[in-house]
Amino acid sequence: APLASPPSVKTTCPYCGVGCGVKATPDGLGGALVEGDRDHPANLGRLCSKGAALGETIGLETRLLHPLLRGADGTLARASWEAALDRIATGLRQVIETHGPSSVAFYLSGQLLTEDYYAANKLAKGFIGTANVDTNSRLCMSSSVAGHKRGFGSDTVPGAYADLESADLMVLVGSNTAWCHPVLFRRMEAARKARGTRFVVIDPRRTETAAEADLHLPLAQGTDALLFSGLLVHLAGSAAFDAAYVAAHTTGFPEALASARAMTPDAAATARACGLAVEDVERFFALFAATERAVTCYSQGVNQSAVGTDKVNAILNCHLATGRIGREGMGPFSLTGQPNAMGGREVGGLANQLAAHMGFSGEEVDRVRRFWGAPNLATHEGLKAVDMFAAIGRGEIKALWVMGTNPAVSLPEADAVRTALGKLDLFVLSENVIANDTAACHPHVMLPAAAWGEKDGTVTNSERRISRQRPFLARPGEVKPDWWALAQVAGRLGFANAFRWRGPADIFREHAALSGFENAGTRDFDIGAFVDLADAAYEIFPPTQWPAPRGRPEGTGRLFAAGGYFTPDRKARFVSPRPAAAVAAEPPFPFVLNTGRIRDQWHTMTRTGLSPRLGSHIPAPFVAIHPEDAAPLGLQEGMLARVASAHGAAVLEVRLDAGQRRGTLFAPIHWSGATASHGRVGPLVHGVTDPISGQPDSKATPASIQPH
Ligand code: SF4
Repeated sequence: APLASPPSVKTTCPYCGVGCGVKATPDGLGGALVEGDRDHPANLGRLCSKGAALGETIGLETRLLHPLLRGADGTLARASWEAALDRIATGLRQVIETHGPSSVAFYLSGQLLTEDYYAANKLAKGFIGTANVDTNSRLCMSSSVAGHKRGFGSDTVPGAYADLESADLMVLVGSNTAWCHPVLFRRMEAARKARGTRFVVIDPRRTETAAEADLHLPLAQGTDALLFSGLLVHLAGSAAFDAAYVAAHTTGFPEALASARAMTPDAAATARACGLAVEDVERFFALFAATERAVTCYSQGVNQSAVGTDKVNAILNCHLATGRIGREGMGPFSLTGQPNAMGGREVGGLANQLAAHMGFSGEEVDRVRRFWGAPNLATHEGLKAVDMFAAIGRGEIKALWVMGTNPAVSLPEADAVRTALGKLDLFVLSENVIANDTAACHPHVMLPAAAWGEKDGTVTNSERRISRQRPFLARPGEVKPDWWALAQVAGRLGFANAFRWRGPADIFREHAALSGFENAGTRDFDIGAFVDLADAAYEIFPPTQWPAPRGRPEGTGRLFAAGGYFTPDRKARFVSPRPAAAVAAEPPFPFVLNTGRIRDQWHTMTRTGLSPRLGSHIPAPFVAIHPEDAAPLGLQEGMLARVASAHGAAVLEVRLDAGQRRGTLFAPIHWSGATASHGRVGPLVHGVTDPISGQPDSKATPASIQPH
């Protein structure tokens, strides 16, 4: 009889925040054919190089398949789940009894599914009683979160991807969209062909995205808020100013304008402050003022900054002043870095959030306590990522559970992070892979977590769209979902009743119920329409943009065109950025080191590194430097250079790049390994953070470079 064709499963790409839908067809031998899902609104069938290579990265060669426990002899050995979970529960109980609940921390990941995130957050904040729950999304999007909350009263992206195709002006700030959100960039390019959309790219580097721009503004690092402050002044005196919208739906405009005028009174002053040509600044201002359908997309060049939150608000101010928000082809648009950076925020995965976009006000604490029946609800914000690892280094945090992330590579001052991890009384690591830099930092317990293709749950992409990640492969070995391990530990700590979930659909319903609990349209995140979602409906759950309150399961495409912000008076706030000059670097570290992604690798390469095709794009770690900066130092193309900061060093291959701003360096974040020669740049990056968002300033570390 002919063989039946294997069924295809619709799921979501595990990489960037575009959140592309993919169709996976298992080959019956452990592999799968992966194609773009034509029905998914994020990508309409398109995939980038990383998504297209997913089928090459699902082998088991590097997978952790069984729990491991560190024995008295210091070595890790295979153990049963029972023994591993008992060890975690016993260790947590001891630490809590001796040092209190705040000595326990969880470090989560934008790679986790929302249901896993929910379980971790509930266990930590509701039942253990620690708010020290943070995530690698802190490194990614927290300045946008803080900026949204200051401006809109809530962490809400107003628009939808469809706006990228109906805009006449696309402003891309601190975003190498062509490499980091490739499918969205293709949608923007299609719009350009169809309607002549003009591109302005604001980035110190002439990236692949900037090379496509009608206008590239290579501003000095750290000056984005000044550029948008100058734009606000220009808009206020132009026909683009929407006095009716400002009067009806905002507060604080006169103060913001006065502050902007003091910093950047005109285009000439703005150009001087940003290190730009005045003609280019004038052209940008005129273009923005003249084009009603304008979208401003921004990403890590804005967020990963000591003034990231101010940069975000400076951008929001310009859209509020023109009323260009929540209407077709208009609005500010934060492009999230990770597949579930937004889903983690929804459940409270950040230390300054409690759950379902609620914070730690007395009313919110009381509401969540009653909803969860939580005996030990945390009542104050916890430590954000950089501060959390500093507290581990000081011995104040004694137990840490890391899930789905590799902080020994990705956090700033990563060598200090390695040292800190060695001081823990209990270090639990839930991982897909058996070996990475964090696994080398002596975890006491390693738990084999389900990987993409095995996981079952939801993620939320950059346009607030919740999509299903569905399993299409059997879980190998003794691999388990993260939510299950968390529920098992909760049970051992005496909280079984609150964690009695049969599967991810139960968790999703509970998450939906919390979002709609005592929410009469006053909180932005509401998916109360799914409180009673049947298991079968969860299975086929279509990609849906929140909010989706009771009675509106179709969700919401755009917000705020007619105001309705989530502040007490339902008005948006203009927020004045603090005055901030361009980042300066002086001897002995005369360069400004910028870090970021390359096209074909993802984070610390534990998955994309398995694909030879992806590895061939850029096979080795490098540092880009302007040729005129390189020449006096004797640096030539292809030679090895030692790049150092006050915190660490890396040996990298020199790339001469005339698109690099003078006085700056760029190095990719992906490579890992124990020594400087492995090209791991995390140790160099300073631990400076934005004081409002806590997001590390990974784009501007003072550094030196010399031949190796
Ligand atoms: Fe995956 Fe992002 Fe590429 Fe889409 S654009 S296929 S989500 S990496």
